Amino acid sequence: MIRAQNLRHVYKNSSGEKVALDDLNFSIDDGEFVAIIGTNGSGKSTLAKHFNALLLPTSGKIFVDGLDTSDEKNLWRVREKVGMVFQNPDSEIVAAVVEDDVAFGLENLGIEPKKIRERVDLALDDVNMSDYKKFAPNKLSGGQKQRIAIAGVIAMRTKIIVFDEPTAMLDPQGRREILELVKRLHAQGKTIIFITHFMEEAAQAQRIFLMDGGRIIKNDTPREIFTDMREMKRLGFDVPIAAEMAERLRRKNFKLPKKILTAEELVAALKKIK
Ligand code: ADP
Ligand code: MG
Repeated sequence: MIRAQNLRHVYKNSSGEKVALDDLNFSIDDGEFVAIIGTNGSGKSTLAKHFNALLLPTSGKIFVDGLDTSDEKNLWRVREKVGMVFQNPDSEIVAAVVEDDVAFGLENLGIEPKKIRERVDLALDDVNMSDYKKFAPNKLSGGQKQRIAIAGVIAMRTKIIVFDEPTAMLDPQGRREILELVKRLHAQGKTIIFITHFMEEAAQAQRIFLMDGGRIIKNDTPREIFTDMREMKRLGFDVPIAAEMAERLRRKNFKLPKKILTAEELVAALKKIK
């Protein structure tokens, strides 16, 4: 479980101070799938980096499995629990051969070579990239590279995986593959924190944090958040297409239930009308 208590982060540099996280309080349960959405500069990446102590609170605390991340002696235990996947797969690839890249984090842990090979093979299998283990990563598509980066995290066997806009640089096919993989990892019991600016992706989570100006201004289910279309428009967000269509049809006097989120629900509701 993850818990933030009055978590603040202030960046200081020559041009002054910037409050990037402003007094956050939340908790995330073991095995939960939380999506984080918010406009550019709302603090999503700053928050992501607090989950594995890449950044430390200016004030307040964040606890990962009860470990205070700002306590220096917890650093490696925190990093063992939280894996990170970032936006740009190119900047995450460190080795010239796929299997070495996936093994990289494990080698740094001093695990014996035979065990490393086993874990790498399993992780590559998990992301459907076994056939590419001898490939050079720079020969792969963006989506494939991102799957290699995820395999590296899977091989580390962290309980929690934080994704910071992993699909932002991918084509629709690549995006779909990553989302399927994320859902599978969640089904296997991992705790997932998934930052995205694609609302259709966020709608797949169990819970959404909506960030604005360094605060979490909404913390609720996708259904509650995305079916309040007027409020989402006011905040400058789109909603998933089915929720939007349902709202337009309601305005044309279609008698539809209030909280339609998915295409399946919309189709089912329309069939009942006929
Ligand atoms: P997001 O990921 O939601 O786009 P960030 O967490 O990257 O937002 O940034 C939050 C705010 O902090 C923004 O105003 C950004 O300009 C600022 N910021 C981010 N990183 C730094 C930094 N290293 N130094 C100073 N300000 C930063
Ligand atoms: Mg960001």
